[in-house]
Amino acid sequence: MTKEELWRIVLGEMELSMSKANFTTWFKNTFIVSLEENNLVIAVPNIFAKEWLEKKYRKNILESVQKNFPKINTFSCIIETERDTTIKSNQETGTNQSIDSLVKKNHPQTQNETVNLKKISNHAPHFSTPQRRVFSSNLNPRYNFNNFVVGTNNELAFAACQAIARDPGKVYNPLFIYGGVGLGKTHLIQSTGNQILANNPNAAIRYLSMERFANELVDAIQNKKAKEFKNNYIALDILILDDVQFLAGREKTQHEFFHVFDALYQAGKQLIITSDRPPKSIPTIEDRLRSRFEGGMMADVSNPDLETRIAIIQKKLLEKNFELNREIIEYLAENIYHNVRELEGALNKIIVTAQLRNKLPSLREVVDLTKDITSQNQRKDLSAEKIIQSVAQYYNIEPKDICGTSRKRKVIRPRQVAVYLLRKDINLSYPEIGEILGGRDHSTAIYAFDKMETELKDNQELNNQLKFIREKFVDY
Ligand code: ADP
Ligand code: MG
Repeated sequence: MTKEELWRIVLGEMELSMSKANFTTWFKNTFIVSLEENNLVIAVPNIFAKEWLEKKYRKNILESVQKNFPKINTFSCIIETERDTTIKSNQETGTNQSIDSLVKKNHPQTQNETVNLKKISNHAPHFSTPQRRVFSSNLNPRYNFNNFVVGTNNELAFAACQAIARDPGKVYNPLFIYGGVGLGKTHLIQSTGNQILANNPNAAIRYLSMERFANELVDAIQNKKAKEFKNNYIALDILILDDVQFLAGREKTQHEFFHVFDALYQAGKQLIITSDRPPKSIPTIEDRLRSRFEGGMMADVSNPDLETRIAIIQKKLLEKNFELNREIIEYLAENIYHNVRELEGALNKIIVTAQLRNKLPSLREVVDLTKDITSQNQRKDLSAEKIIQSVAQYYNIEPKDICGTSRKRKVIRPRQVAVYLLRKDINLSYPEIGEILGGRDHSTAIYAFDKMETELKDNQELNNQLKFIREKFVDY
């Protein structure tokens, strides 16, 4: 087996175990440089991917390699951009400038050195002079990186935002963050803007929603100021646009926005964009715009897991200078799980009520106070059928295998995953789950659920699989 073949197999396995955004970001343009006795050297396009592969995916990569080369027990990554690549990006080349190629351009003396991020951050970007600024930044100072809780659901987006705040316009451009409502997208991109401003008070930044951009554009056209409008945007250093799914079906806005986007991009200015869905799922959007969105870095945010939800509640309580006992915190975290905004809403309601009554609420009172929110959390759109279908599809088996009596090895894990999701995501009772899974006893369902809970604590791959399957639930 050649090293190219080996890497193709490893990539195939990695791709199955994580979301597409993660896979593309970390594994695009990687290849094996050398394969020795017990060591593997992997080329990656930048320091960011190096850290991620060496720290986060070390175990998964080694496990996958060892299936074919059992002797390999270590690997390291080197930064290399000029060689041929194993996964070709399907976008135009050159859109995703790597840190390494940038450094080579700016500091020819570092040709063959491994670079670290700090080197280029010292090389301060040239920002506009204050008089060039016509816009206020529109940023809400309440959002910052410190009051954002990082979990597996958002770590990729968080890391990308931090890297961009250090080096706007250089590392990943554009950054496209996507994910459901209330999962922290606005918080993250505004924090990025605030951090850039803190580092460079002269930076010309503007944050706004795509809807507002479209409305401003309409006004400008009506007042015959379309050109001025565009020029004002093109003079920015950083443009942060929230909720670009609004572009769907708006041809004129897409057209104008495309020109603003391109002008900024060509000038090396940073673009940060969010959407409630990935570019490929925004209907009726021009192909050239879609490929621009996909051409930089894409990062997804998904639902926080239980631990992250607990951490978020604790952070919010600290911010609001309020205390709740552990039992209540856990109740909230366990029962409000689709949306951080709802979690915050529930907390606010409890706090206001407590202040009015001048005493801390009991658990029973909390249950009562948050009834309307917790009941909504049982997703109406999600059915047992849909869960089983998604699980079957993911594991490449038939739904009837999951529900049937087969004891084949390959159906064991899918069945456990199905039990877990049926319980967690649509709150079915164990007897109901047993019934759905081919009339099994409820104790079988309990066993499977407990096994999943235990494994999920330290099996990152299983967590990734669940995340991936859950993404499939969402009907874009
Ligand atoms: P989105 O833009 O994805 O719809 P927001 O950024 O508006 O979501 O987040 C909704 C609310 O939840 C905000 O008040 C935000 O501060 C909070 N929030 C979301 N995720 C986190 C997190 N990981 N840590 C702290 N607060 C969060
Ligand atoms: Mg938002």
